[in-house]
Amino acid sequence: MLRNRYLVALIFFWIFLSCERTNSDNLRNPVQLDFQSMKEEMVKTQIRARGVRDEGVLNAMLEVDRHKFVPEEIRHLAYSDRPLPIGEGQTISQPYIVALMTELLELKKGDRVLEVGTGSGYQAAILAELADHVYTIEIIESLGRSAERLLRELGYKNIDVKIGDGYIGWEEFAPFDAIIVTAAPPHTPQPLLDQLKEEGRLVIPVGGFYQDLKKITKAKGQIKSQDIIPVVFVPMTGEHIKGKKKR
Ligand code: SAM
Repeated sequence: MLRNRYLVALIFFWIFLSCERTNSDNLRNPVQLDFQSMKEEMVKTQIRARGVRDEGVLNAMLEVDRHKFVPEEIRHLAYSDRPLPIGEGQTISQPYIVALMTELLELKKGDRVLEVGTGSGYQAAILAELADHVYTIEIIESLGRSAERLLRELGYKNIDVKIGDGYIGWEEFAPFDAIIVTAAPPHTPQPLLDQLKEEGRLVIPVGGFYQDLKKITKAKGQIKSQDIIPVVFVPMTGEHIKGKKKR
């Protein structure tokens, strides 16, 4: 009798130990999280539910692993409905905003796109799924270099990263079918308007602490601007925005 009780107690203790081990393993090793399901849920509840309908954009958001673009220690938050810190005081944008801005660009297979504000490289990867070539500029060298490394590791051959001030665009490869700006200037930089192709689309947050997300189009030399929604992006930095440096 005593031996049986001892045996039962031993079995319970063993079960308790295994549960404890599994729980602490999960906490220490978030790689075991089901990122695929989290990504599908993100697209369904944060993006499709808010009205993004372009199947190409939805597929790109399903294709690119957002958790690979955020710092290791916050990977478990990668698919949550918010921007996240990526270091150097900068952020990776909220998934819905990435999808909305991409949809507004109306990308086609042969398009060449300029992005200002590479950050983590996530938005560039989404663009590269839809366009022919992506040219992306980052002003903070450490961010630009690590995004470039990651994008290369992930096999993207149609993305060029440059370290520099995106206010002046990338003259060498202009004009662009589409331009996306992911840092907020107080006004739309003239060089970006100049480097936009006829029939091109420019999506940009413009303002101070709060900004308007604008979709700007060029047709027959005429510039048309449409306010889409209020947004909050990190400010555009650099000497050109302050008017201290000429091109
Ligand atoms: N698109 C990024 C992503 O997918 O992670 C998020 C970009 S974050 C909201 C804005 C980025 O713009 C920051 O990395 C910041 O350093 C960069 N930035 C700010 N001013 C810039 C400028 N004048 N030229 C290029 N990059 C700039």
